Amino acid sequence: MTDVAIAGGGLIGLAVAWRAAQRGLSVTVVDDAPGTGASAAAAGMLAPVTEAAYGEEALLRLCQASLQRYGAFAAELEAASGLPVGLRTAGTLVVGFDADDVAALDALHDYQRELGLPAERLTPRDTRRREPSLTPRVRGGLAVAGDHSVDGRALHAALLAAAIAAGVHVVADRVAAVQVAGGRATGLQLSGGGTVDAGTVVLALGAESAGLPGVPPLPVRPVKGQILRLAGAEGLLSGTVRALVRGRHVYLVPYGAGGLIVGATVEDRGFDPTVTAGGVHDLLHDAIEVVPGVTELELVETLARWRPGTADNAPLLGPSALPGLVLATGHHRNGVLLTPVTADVIAELLFTGELPELAVPFTVERFVHR
Ligand SMILES: Cc1cc2nc3c(=O)[nH]c(=O)nc-3n(C[C@H](O)[C@H](O)[C@H](O)COP(=O)(O)OP(=O)(O)OC[C@H]3O[C@@H](n4cnc5c(N)ncnc54)[C@H](O)[C@@H]3O)c2cc1C
Repeated sequence: MTDVAIAGGGLIGLAVAWRAAQRGLSVTVVDDAPGTGASAAAAGMLAPVTEAAYGEEALLRLCQASLQRYGAFAAELEAASGLPVGLRTAGTLVVGFDADDVAALDALHDYQRELGLPAERLTPRDTRRREPSLTPRVRGGLAVAGDHSVDGRALHAALLAAAIAAGVHVVADRVAAVQVAGGRATGLQLSGGGTVDAGTVVLALGAESAGLPGVPPLPVRPVKGQILRLAGAEGLLSGTVRALVRGRHVYLVPYGAGGLIVGATVEDRGFDPTVTAGGVHDLLHDAIEVVPGVTELELVETLARWRPGTADNAPLLGPSALPGLVLATGHHRNGVLLTPVTADVIAELLFTGELPELAVPFTVERFVHR
């Protein structure tokens, strides 16, 4: 019997496990392949301001709260695990190519100003001064000094090490069902035949969170993203570049020693794992348009994974319709950014029984009452 059984050992499941174990709870995480879900694909952008979208103001506040915690979270995690997480604080540049792209940049900037978000509109010349490897055809830019990035895979490795060091038990098996007795979740049933009996169960299966036997219906769906990793980009970019290339979005995120992530497609295709010629073509084409030097880099990896999408693009945090089952899922395109705040609010709920105020707008209740 464990205090907490967590289904899923992606960034979210492990961060919750680590924080819960720090509170003195006994924690078991079940995952047959930790870190191979969306967390393996993520570009690692920590970008509440450049991701800000109309109608998502509550999500923006949660994202900002998480970003505020990132520096301390990363430092504590690096100390606990002895592993680097690759936090980069060089900021983000958003650039546009044609008149429509620049109009979209201006609209984004107006919206950011309306919300009091720090962003600086740049001339084409100033844009290229910030990132000299940008093409001279860039028509304008927006600098957001506070939008950072982290190496998502390094972060996962550090969380796994820190969680284990804090006493978390990691079971390499698939979850077959949430075990239910007397109208409440009492543990996890494993594909291998065993069970993990628990006081509370946390569902952190990312895009696969809906449809698990025993789990009440959940509004989580897979949103496919194809993404590329390139090598040899030492010194090419100082920070993240996000671009609108004739209406199409592409981003370039430097990581590690000379690594560059180029992403990402957004596709409603269920759990389709295919990396398509068209997907890779469009991403490379647009990345090379923005930073011509990309053409010289080595393409080392292509990958498709699924963002855990919800109808309002915000996560599901806190109690579910099934007593004893806590939700930590649906983080969609912001799961890396939202890792620290999710871990804190869910660990608080597990320890005290109270969901912090900050997370209350993100319970599944918001969908039930519509
Ligand atoms: C292409 C792409 C780019 C992205 N870029 C960013 C970004 O720049 N910034 C950002 O903040 N977010 C980004 N995201 C979103 C982010 O990756 C996710 O929101 C986040 O990784 C979700 O983490 P998770 O732990 O909930 O899910 P996952 O990482 O998917 O973890 C779920 C875990 O559950 C396990 N699992 C599933 N089913 C079972 C089962 N039945 N039994 C046992 N284990 C099971 C899997 O093995 C996996 O380890 C991106 C996502 C994609 C796809």
